[in-house]
Amino acid sequence: MQSNQGRLQAIQHILSRQLPPPSTPAPLEEIWAQDVFTLSKMKTMLPKAVHKSLKATIEGGGKLDVTVADVVAAAMKEWAVAKGALYYAHVFYPLTNATAEKHDGFISLQPDGSAIAEFSGKMLVQGEPDGSSFPSGGIRATFEARGYTAWDVTSPAYIMPTPNGATLCIPTVFVSWTGEALDKKTPLLRSNAALDRAARQVLQLLGHTDIAPISSSCGAEQEYFLVDAALASVRPDLLLSGRTLFGKAPAKGQQFDDHYFGAIPERVQVFMQDVEQKLYRLGIPAKTRHNEVAPGQFEIAPFHEAANVATDHQQMIMTTLRNTAKEHGFLCLLHEKPFAGINGSGKHVNWSVGNATQGNLLDPGETPHDNAQFLVFCAAVIRGVHKFGPLMRAVIASASNDHRLGANEAPPAIMSVYLGDQLEDVFNQIKSGRAGDSKARGVMTLGVDSLPDLPKDAGDRNRTSPFAFTGNRFEFRAVGSGMSVAGPLVALNTILADSLTWIAGRLEAEINGGADLNSAILSVLKGVMGEHGAVVFGGDGYSEQWHAEAEKRGLANLRTTADALPVLKEKEIEELFQRHRVLTPVELASRFEVYAEQYVLSIEVESRLVIDLAKTQLYPSAMNYLAELGDSLGKLEALGIKADKQVAVKVSEQAGALLSSADKLAQALAKHDFADTTAHLKHCAEVLRPLMDEIRDHADALEAEVADQHWPLPTYEEMLFLR
Ligand code: ADP
Ligand code: MG
Repeated sequence: MQSNQGRLQAIQHILSRQLPPPSTPAPLEEIWAQDVFTLSKMKTMLPKAVHKSLKATIEGGGKLDVTVADVVAAAMKEWAVAKGALYYAHVFYPLTNATAEKHDGFISLQPDGSAIAEFSGKMLVQGEPDGSSFPSGGIRATFEARGYTAWDVTSPAYIMPTPNGATLCIPTVFVSWTGEALDKKTPLLRSNAALDRAARQVLQLLGHTDIAPISSSCGAEQEYFLVDAALASVRPDLLLSGRTLFGKAPAKGQQFDDHYFGAIPERVQVFMQDVEQKLYRLGIPAKTRHNEVAPGQFEIAPFHEAANVATDHQQMIMTTLRNTAKEHGFLCLLHEKPFAGINGSGKHVNWSVGNATQGNLLDPGETPHDNAQFLVFCAAVIRGVHKFGPLMRAVIASASNDHRLGANEAPPAIMSVYLGDQLEDVFNQIKSGRAGDSKARGVMTLGVDSLPDLPKDAGDRNRTSPFAFTGNRFEFRAVGSGMSVAGPLVALNTILADSLTWIAGRLEAEINGGADLNSAILSVLKGVMGEHGAVVFGGDGYSEQWHAEAEKRGLANLRTTADALPVLKEKEIEELFQRHRVLTPVELASRFEVYAEQYVLSIEVESRLVIDLAKTQLYPSAMNYLAELGDSLGKLEALGIKADKQVAVKVSEQAGALLSSADKLAQALAKHDFADTTAHLKHCAEVLRPLMDEIRDHADALEAEVADQHWPLPTYEEMLFLR
């Protein structure tokens, strides 16, 4: 009897799969932002005064005029209806990394029984989804379920087409009845405002008078895996948890590095082109694509945009990847570690800060004049990462990212800053006070003339650093592939705002004390490096030595989510977010509760899956094989041939151990009396996770022994190499 029917059918299915006929992509100019209600489209549809008022709100912040909203809504509806939309949706971003939408029809019944399409300014600007099932971390009880969505004017509305009609989508914030943020967008907007306030203070002190609104920018490189949908359909673990909970290491993995930047397989290329065409229509600037390190792993990166818009677009990229994969017979995995022993997927969040008048504030520029300004902003980042490294670790904590961080392929859980050789040297000079030389030689305005002009690539790349300076931005590499980038951006914006505010205070004090601007800057930079330089590290972040060295330097190494999430409960973090009006203590506390719950739920789902699969698929397969072996062995013995029982013994032992480990896990899973949330997190990290690994060890040992025709789950070879 065979137990691998499902597997074989899946393979058969793949081999006979017809590729969609190759299509020529539509020219970019023709499709770019076709489904977006852009400012330029509004210009042709709106009265001049209305367009001007809206543009001012978008570019300069401030409230939207209600009369303006009515006119905009009418034009938006007309545009959407012409594109086939009968419904509109307020799209929002709950704390689950997901994108949520509530659809409402444009339909309005008239007294005479007829129906017309209607869309008012009020409907555009505000919505009221019930949303009581979204986690609020205790902010509201179910009986006070009211939540409001409100249009984020800075992120454009767009049409999401499906084969069954189109929906007008309006990006919104999501807040509770009592005004607390229940989403990821609200704090992001607030953190950007905090950054604007703080950076403005510093720029003013540096002598600028014309300062346009300052915003953070983000370009996120998205890694993902593609597995054939037919194979995935017989891997319940992939379908339900996004990763393989079992699977023996393949004979060939990624050791040849023959996939990295290799020719993109034809079927994948067709998929990618389809994705990009959809993204272009949505005004999302997809810019690079390539094969990643692991077989079956790929990357897509858009051009960077204002952080708020980039974050919405990032969510749309994840949705588009998943949906398009289905159309192409793939399952797209955004899990951080779908395959043990094979590289996982991250999301490199490239982040900077700038405005229209001063440009990119993390760009060293061409002259010493720019250098001084750059050094101030860069030092502010260094201070922020040193003071709030544990917060950066906390905002990228998840059950899935725990598998990746520190696993010798991704940055460790220790937060440090990589500057590149030259820049590190410049900061070391500042730290050792060499700037004194420059003073003796007389310093010109706003310059640090003892220091060289900084080229854009002031150093090599360092893939082992979680947070690296890359020429004109920082790259936060430890973010997980399936995560919203909002959390990391909120943390980065807020810690930078905090440092800039602090620096502004120090500069002012120095200047008031009689120092000229240049010596004030040098003294502040020296102070920052003296106190926070320990976070700068240019060596190999994967090495054992670094772990020891980091400990000496007092840098935290928060290995698991259970270690990292409680950082959100610290007084210092509460004060940080409160001080900059990004999150109230209640909002912050609710985030800890929600993220903790998500972590617990993921581990529990995986635990149940492990038990189910072990008991109902793997153990029976092993027993079938044993029966067959026993039969053969008995027949040999009957013939008087001495039979080797080693395999039968091994399979029997491993199968027994598999069952007893599964029982242990089931018992541990039943525990429900925990002193507090942190204790529950620890139980998941320290009891459930190791037990899951124990079961996996037995299962993978069985996979190495049991005859292939009895093994029910598609193997790593099949999932990674068949496409
Ligand atoms: P690599 O893989 O070499 O790191 P990519 O070209 O794949 O680089 O991605 C770099 C990302 O950094 C892109 O999304 C790019 O738009 C983004 N980026 C470039 N400049 C900035 C900036 N000033 N702010 C934010 N992101 C930026
Ligand atoms: Mg990168």
